[in-house]
Parts: sequence; structure tokens; C-alpha cells
Amino acid sequence: MSHIVLFGPPGAGKGTQSAMLKTEAGLGHISTGDALRAEVAAGTPLGKEVGAVMASGALVSDDLVIGVLKSRLESLNGVKGVVFDGFPRTVAQAQALDQMLASRNESVAAMVSLVVDKEELIERLLKRAEAEGRADDTRESIAKRFDEYQAKTLPVADYYRGQNKLVEVNGSGSVEEVFQRIRQATGV
Ligand code: ADP
Repeated sequence: MSHIVLFGPPGAGKGTQSAMLKTEAGLGHISTGDALRAEVAAGTPLGKEVGAVMASGALVSDDLVIGVLKSRLESLNGVKGVVFDGFPRTVAQAQALDQMLASRNESVAAMVSLVVDKEELIERLLKRAEAEGRADDTRESIAKRFDEYQAKTLPVADYYRGQNKLVEVNGSGSVEEVFQRIRQATGV
């Protein structure tokens, strides 16, 4: 199993590159952001609990997200590995993921960190806001998401660096260029 954690700030292209890894490299894809948005859209009790938190740009609680991740992981079958997109976003989540995988005799092969200038990130997010109208792609929520990223998510890179699993990939350029860089860096 070749599990990859796709890491980077909001707008870095995690969702786009995950889709490439799914179709071109045969990996399963778990996006906690997509999973949570589906709960909100379906109006489930979980969705009702997290909708406002997500719209504000704050992180959802570790317990809730770890539960969502676990059920998605258990329902994935017949894949060569999984791309984790938007998870782990805190060190506690990274520890929970390690434990979950260890209980299956599996582990994270690499964390791919997509590196993109902040100016380009904001430009991409505002463009996406026009195209998709995501509730958290407002200037205010974008600012909050960057704050959360700095404070809580950046330390996750150090966590994987400590395991010698961090690979930095230039996330600027065309979707195909970035994808080829990821393939080269990870061998998937
Ligand atoms: P982004 O483009 O900001 O990376 P995502 O779609 O991955 O967006 O996540 C959107 C929102 O969903 C986050 O701002 C947060 O509220 C919630 N969320 C997604 N994944 C997690 C997670 N692992 N831990 C906590 N909250 C999460």
C-alpha cells in the first residue's frame, strides 16, 4: 500500500492533484473537506454541527474529522493506496492516522507538500469563489483559513519531516506539470 498525504495551504491544488492521482495512478482518494461538505449538503446531524464552523474558515474538531476519516478509510476497497487530501490538518490528526494505519499493518509512504506563493493562492481562491461559490471562499474566511493553516496545520509538516517522509513539490505551473513532479517525487 502506498499511502500519500497531500499537504499545502488553501488553494495549493490538493483537490486537483488528488483527482489526477486517482485517475492516473489508481489511488483511492479521501478528502475530509469534500466529506464534510457532503454532510452539510445532506443536512445530517453532523452536517448541521459543522456547517457554520466550515463557513467561517475555522477547523472542525479533531474528534469529528477523525471519525469521518475512519469511516471513509474502512469503506475503501481494492485500491493500491490512498491519497489523503486535507487530512491530517493537526498533529493530533496525524497521530490518529498513524495509529489507524498501524492497526492495518500499513503506514504513510510520503507527505507531498505543494508549495505556492501566497499571492497566487489568494488569486486562485477568489477565482474559485466566482466559479463554484463555496461558502468559505470569501475574503474573510480565506484569511481565517490561512491563520488556521499557520497555527495548527504547518506543524504537521514537521511531524512528517521527523519521520523523513516530507517531500516538497513546486505547486505552480500547469496541472500536468505539477502532477509529473509529484509522480517523480513519490514514484507512484
Ligand atoms: P481548503 O481548500 O481550504 O484546503 P478543504 O476543502 O480541504 O479546503 O476544507 C474546507 C474546510 O473543511 C476547512 O476549512 C475546515 O473547516 C474543514 N476541514 C476539512 N478537513 C479538515 C480537517 N482535517 N480538520 C479540521 N477541519 C477540516
